[in-house]
Formats: sequence, C-alpha cells, structure tokens
Amino acid sequence: MVLKMGELKIPDSQIERTGYIELPEHCDVPGHEKLNMIHFKGEIICPRCKLEKNNQEFAYEKTREHFDNTAEGRRLFFYQNSIVHNRAILDKGIRDYINKNDEESHIKKKANTTPREVIEDNRNVFMYGSAGTGKSHLLVGILKNINEISTEKRCLFVSVPKLLGNIKKSFNDPRELKGEAYYMKLLSDTDILGLDDIGAELSMNTTKQASDFTINTLYNILNAREGKSTLFTSNLTIEQLSRLMDERIISRIKTNVIYMDFNEISDKREIAYKLKQ
Ligand SMILES: [Zn+2]
Repeated sequence: MVLKMGELKIPDSQIERTGYIELPEHCDVPGHEKLNMIHFKGEIICPRCKLEKNNQEFAYEKTREHFDNTAEGRRLFFYQNSIVHNRAILDKGIRDYINKNDEESHIKKKANTTPREVIEDNRNVFMYGSAGTGKSHLLVGILKNINEISTEKRCLFVSVPKLLGNIKKSFNDPRELKGEAYYMKLLSDTDILGLDDIGAELSMNTTKQASDFTINTLYNILNAREGKSTLFTSNLTIEQLSRLMDERIISRIKTNVIYMDFNEISDKREIAYKLKQ
C-alpha cells in the first residue's frame, strides 16, 4: 500500500498537541474504507492494518514459544505448521516409497543420502518430473529424516498453491491472524523448508496480477531465506520454470543445488490403483 502525503501540510503545532493527525485519505485494503489514515510519529499508517500486523506477530510468537529445540518439539513443529492440502501426506516416509525398477531404486537411494548432504553442505534440492511420481512423498520423507538426524534444524513442508491460497484468503478476512506477515516470518525462520509444487499456478492460464503475486511472494520468501536450504518439487524442469519466473528466483534455486529427476519414474497413483484391485 502506497500513500503519499502530496501537498497536504500539517502544522507542527497540531502534531505536537495530539501526537497524531487524521488524514482525509483511507487505506485500500478491502474493509478498511471507513477508517482514515493517520499521521503518527512521522509515519502515515492505517490504524487497522497496524493493529492486524501486531496481532499476527503475537500469534507467531505464541506458536514459536511452543516449539522448543527438542526432537519432539521439532517433530511437533513439522506436523503442526506444515501447510498441506491433505494431512495424510505428512505420514509418508522414504521407506514407504515403492521401487519396482532401477530408476525407482536409484531415486529412492538418492533420497536416502540427501538429508545428510542438506544438513552438512547446506544444499538446495530441486525434484522435478511428471505428476504422480512421488516427489511430494519423497520430499516429506527427506524432511522427516533431516528432523531425526539433525539436532537443531527445524523443517517444514509447504504446498505452494495452498500457501498462496491462504494468503489470498487472509486479505479478505481482517480477523484472520495468519496472514502474509505470519507466513513470511514462519517460512523465513524455518531452517530447512520444503516448497512443494512450485510453478503450478504459473503453467495454467493466469492473469498478470495473479502471476505477479505468485512470483513476488516466492521471491520474498527466498530472499528472506538467504543462506538456508530450500527443497523444491515441480512438475516443470528448471528450464521450463525459468521461462515463467523471475531470473532472481531461478538463480536462488540453482545455488548449490542437488537435482533429482523423476521423469523416468512411473505414475505411482497407477500402482496404488492396481494394488487395490
Ligand atoms: Zn488498512
């Protein structure tokens, strides 16, 4: 939100007297139309936005206090704060990954060696390939292994489409404590972050405004995580992704990255279906 004071002159005497001054403008967040902006301690603020931001920070601190640096605390942190469509995915482990051929055995083996490389060498990971090949499953498995091996790293699994949806929803609900500020703080503070299904919204037909929102949000997250490992899954290759995204995002993904190619892997959903019959 940008609001310039323009030609408006506020007499110093008036500011001194009241501490703040009401301006004729109002903020552009839906639902805030009835509140005037105020000039307070040299800043122009919307009183409601200010209050919401304070509430979000409070909600975050409460969550944070709850998860101390014990193995149990890290496990709880992972289960309670991961952002998913369906919580069942969080029960997956590397050992449940069905490998029926060389390619699948290879990818499973790689998933087993990745946690240590991420912890010790601060690697990023980019897992790519068709839908249904078990990328999210192995990402959860890798993060859970990191949780068990490491004595200090806290991990989180985040479905990017779900995260973006939650943030958008919070824009229209002033009472929602978990909004953009909350998620930004949570994701930037997490030691090792799994971002599931990046680029999904970009490959569909989206408006410029929607794709700008996606790209800006991702950029802000990665920027705030400078120096921390992030693990990604995508249905797109890094080349396909680079045609849809900002080069600054791509170069952050590529930094010290381990690639895991799932394109030779068969559709796991098909196997699950066959096993049921
Ligand atoms: Zn506002």
